[in-house]
Amino acid sequence: MNFHSMSADQLRDTQADLQKRYEALCAAGLSLNLTRGKPAPDQLDLSEELLALPGVGNHTSPDGTDCRNYGGVAGLPALREIFGELLGTGADRIVAQNNASLQIMHDLTVFALLGGTPDSEHPWSKHDSPIKFLCPAPGYDRHFAITEQYGIEMITVPMNPDGPDVEACAELVADDPSIKGMWVVPTYSNPTGYSVSEEVARALVAMPTAAPDFRIYWDNAYAVHTLVEETPTPLPILDLAAEAGHPNRVYVFGSTSKITFAGGGVAFFGSSPENLDWYTGHASIATIGPDKLNQLRHLQFFGDADGVRAHMARHRALIAPKFELVLQILEDRLGASKIAHWTEPEGGYFISLDVIDGTAARTVSLAKQAGIALTGAGATFPYKNDPHDRNIRLAPTFPPIDELATAMDGVATCALLAATEKLLD
Ligand code: PLP
Repeated sequence: MNFHSMSADQLRDTQADLQKRYEALCAAGLSLNLTRGKPAPDQLDLSEELLALPGVGNHTSPDGTDCRNYGGVAGLPALREIFGELLGTGADRIVAQNNASLQIMHDLTVFALLGGTPDSEHPWSKHDSPIKFLCPAPGYDRHFAITEQYGIEMITVPMNPDGPDVEACAELVADDPSIKGMWVVPTYSNPTGYSVSEEVARALVAMPTAAPDFRIYWDNAYAVHTLVEETPTPLPILDLAAEAGHPNRVYVFGSTSKITFAGGGVAFFGSSPENLDWYTGHASIATIGPDKLNQLRHLQFFGDADGVRAHMARHRALIAPKFELVLQILEDRLGASKIAHWTEPEGGYFISLDVIDGTAARTVSLAKQAGIALTGAGATFPYKNDPHDRNIRLAPTFPPIDELATAMDGVATCALLAATEKLLD
């Protein structure tokens, strides 16, 4: 029954029932974890063959590079070909690097702070007031951690089902030259699963900005991570930016962390030729070249872009049932009460759950006491501050499916109990 139309007596009765259920949950001595947005062991097993590649005597890439040696800061051309297609940049506007795209995002930010971008009048750190980034939220906590780490002020903008609220963004960047960048996850965003529409993408790359060196960190981490049959076509965001007269505005990122091995994949960075030269100039001070043997084994493992898509279909077979289960439990346990909304993503790694305002932290804390670890309330917002205290990020991929069912049922009990507390308050 809809909690919002219950009388106080009905709510109290419901609360008493939920309290009993919660006590039983606590007594079960659970130790479950729904925080980890990482592949489960069976997903990692899909790529086990990588461990035997490239194999003894097999160290030359198709372009003739001896991958055992130093050099090649841009990475192997044949692998860039594959991911240039999948990320919509084309092979000549992407570089293949080491295992973490986050590291590239971090480094680009530090390079800009210390030395400025090709379009900067001075280093970002020398700007006459503290610089700022727009942060569509709910969003990815590790993005916000990078900007927070370097004292970049974060401005929350709403993340809508078709992408960041572009009107809010355009208004903010038009007059404030200290706004130097924004975070965007364009496909199956973390945690909402929302994807940026072409219309919003065009508006973001075209909007006039007071800062000539404004950058969009277009983190396409889930470009091919679909839960439905069709892999989405990536927006040709670099072309759109160039057409709009801002060829240097966009940094594209991707990686194979959630395709092959989260700890041993290959990361990619795509951008304009000028930005790539600038980046590789800096990167080549830090390294005499990325791990090309890992790139070669990925190349051999996939073969081509279709090889990646076929591999992702195998992931889908393992994780789609987990997402379905979570959505089913949410509907069964929370649907009628109308105390929550949640996203129904067609890809990515997360479900975003919004509970009644003011009850997310309480729900997470109740779950914790019952032995169910949830991502901290607020984590999906800059400074870990969810102004409405309502968003909870659910990560269904890692736990085995029976544990997932127990954990989600428990979370639902906690959300319902927290809702009765709030409504009776
Ligand atoms: N970007 C997003 C949006 C993510 O959700 C994640 C991991 O959860 C990453 C990047 C991490 O990528 P990488 O492993 O390439 O550093």
